[in-house]
Amino acid sequence: EQQKLQRIKSTKAVTLDGMNIDLFANIEVPEDVVAVAASGATGIGLYRTEFLFMNRREMPDEEEQFNAYKTVAEAMKGATVIIRTLDLGADKQMNPDTIVTCANPALGLRAIRYCLSEPQIFHTQLRALLRASHFGNIKILVPMLCTLSELRQTKLLLERAKISLLKQNIPFNENIELGGMIEIPAAAINAEAFANELDFLSIGTNDLIQYTLAIDRTDDAVAHLYNPLHPSVLKLISMTIKAGEKLGKSVSVCGEMAGDAKLTKLLIGMGLRQLSMHPSHILSVKQQILHSQLTTLKVNARKVLNLTDLEKVEPLVAKLNRNSD
Ligand code: PEP
Ligand code: MG
Repeated sequence: EQQKLQRIKSTKAVTLDGMNIDLFANIEVPEDVVAVAASGATGIGLYRTEFLFMNRREMPDEEEQFNAYKTVAEAMKGATVIIRTLDLGADKQMNPDTIVTCANPALGLRAIRYCLSEPQIFHTQLRALLRASHFGNIKILVPMLCTLSELRQTKLLLERAKISLLKQNIPFNENIELGGMIEIPAAAINAEAFANELDFLSIGTNDLIQYTLAIDRTDDAVAHLYNPLHPSVLKLISMTIKAGEKLGKSVSVCGEMAGDAKLTKLLIGMGLRQLSMHPSHILSVKQQILHSQLTTLKVNARKVLNLTDLEKVEPLVAKLNRNSD
């Protein structure tokens, strides 16, 4: 089976009726670009930069960060590289010896909230990202947006980082695109407003499911209740896709859902044209796309979205997957 999949490695991910789908890879460290090249992915849809900050005592300085981001950008030779700003906190702490304890880490000072509370750390990362943008096709992605004010503060800090580089005559892409992760239900419900002020959206289904269903994604005791097919999760994803369509902004999924081949036809039918996943899933997802008829997927996705009962969603998705397109 794996051998059979290898044959479609350089085949474009296009449906039978001609819709092209971008299949991108998620990475955690620059060394992962080797796996990306081997996977048949055509870009990087999520580079989780927090791994550069974890399991160490000191923050990486601007030079270390710049080198990591530049390495990835150059390795991808002009293909899209979406780099997410620091998503520290909750399950991703910096130093295991100094883990900050708070009552609800997942609801606490993490991701963009943390970065806005530590503007110097954020400034250093933004400068490193901008400098690296001179060496490839980098886009910046902001995690855990909840309010427009967080987005505006982020833009202000990005502007400041740009000005500091201009003053030093250091080159960077002045038109670098800025995207936001939609992974808090409040952001999905208000996705149009975010789409209006961003260049692209990326749906983080791992956290979106956690926050929508009130299920800690790290707690084994409730893992059986964690379900991407919950009708409310699908509604929030659909709302986000619609917002992107309305405002002409691209929308992707970069959570685990994107790499689950059993969900590919549903996600494409719902309107997604970009999926980013662990490199090992690219070919099985591509296989689904190559056997799909977009017009059929759209009709099927509508049927799934009309259901309000999770117990009916799962069998319908399974049944639609068994059909040939
Ligand atoms: C997500 O939440 O779906 C996501 C892609 O980000 P992470 O898993 O790093 O929180
Ligand atoms: Mg997340």
